[in-house]
Amino acid sequence: MAAEKSRAIVIRATPFGETSSVVTIYCREFGKLRALAKGAWRPKSGFDGGLDLLSTCQVLVLRKSSGGLDLLTEAGLESRFRVGTSLSAVLGGMHVAELLDALTADADPQPELFEVAHATLRRLSDWRGDDAPIQILLAAAQLTVLRIVGHAPVLSRCAECHGRLPDTARTAFGMLDGGTLCDRCRGGRRGVVSVSASALAALRLLADGRVAADDVPLPPAVCGEVRGIMTTLLSHLLERPLRVPAQMLRRGRRSS
Ligand SMILES: [Zn+2]
Repeated sequence: MAAEKSRAIVIRATPFGETSSVVTIYCREFGKLRALAKGAWRPKSGFDGGLDLLSTCQVLVLRKSSGGLDLLTEAGLESRFRVGTSLSAVLGGMHVAELLDALTADADPQPELFEVAHATLRRLSDWRGDDAPIQILLAAAQLTVLRIVGHAPVLSRCAECHGRLPDTARTAFGMLDGGTLCDRCRGGRRGVVSVSASALAALRLLADGRVAADDVPLPPAVCGEVRGIMTTLLSHLLERPLRVPAQMLRRGRRSS
């Protein structure tokens, strides 16, 4: 079988034996794959820095027809994720990898997902200066990823009865229902939080792919509320707390 070519993001890498590595990559053309990179750590291997975590590379992969690991024969570095001066940016990059890993099935290609992850990692790479925009960038990426994988939260009507939302200062948001709830539907439900009108407006803007995250400046309090909602929503969806970046994503979270 001939090796196939794809662009890929390295989302996990585990040493295997003395010089090899088992990597999880998200390929633009093939979706998420787990592959063995034989001799990845040997000097002068065909991988040449291409398998660093969060880097984007051009890979050649031999696909297994049934079960087992694919075989990665080459990985040429396209762009490396560089650590700038912000820990939040690094944790944000790892969070993007976690989303790709946790919200996708193996070998289910969604090129748009690759593109949004790649673009977000490019923005976070070598981040210097103010950390505040990182949270907005990440919330926009989370909402885009959720839309692509079919879990976009409902934000403009009732997630349960599809009725109109009351025009009030705070709106109920059902974590288990995947979105906003009207007054009639909110009663007696578990996992319901109350969202301020500003945070709901921000979520709607960020979920709207036509608005660049950079054009959605948020006051710190609204940013914290949006971050808390997204963290809780994702934890419910994954049925577990988020991994490493949880500390960062939880920082400043409002209890509501
Ligand atoms: Zn309703």
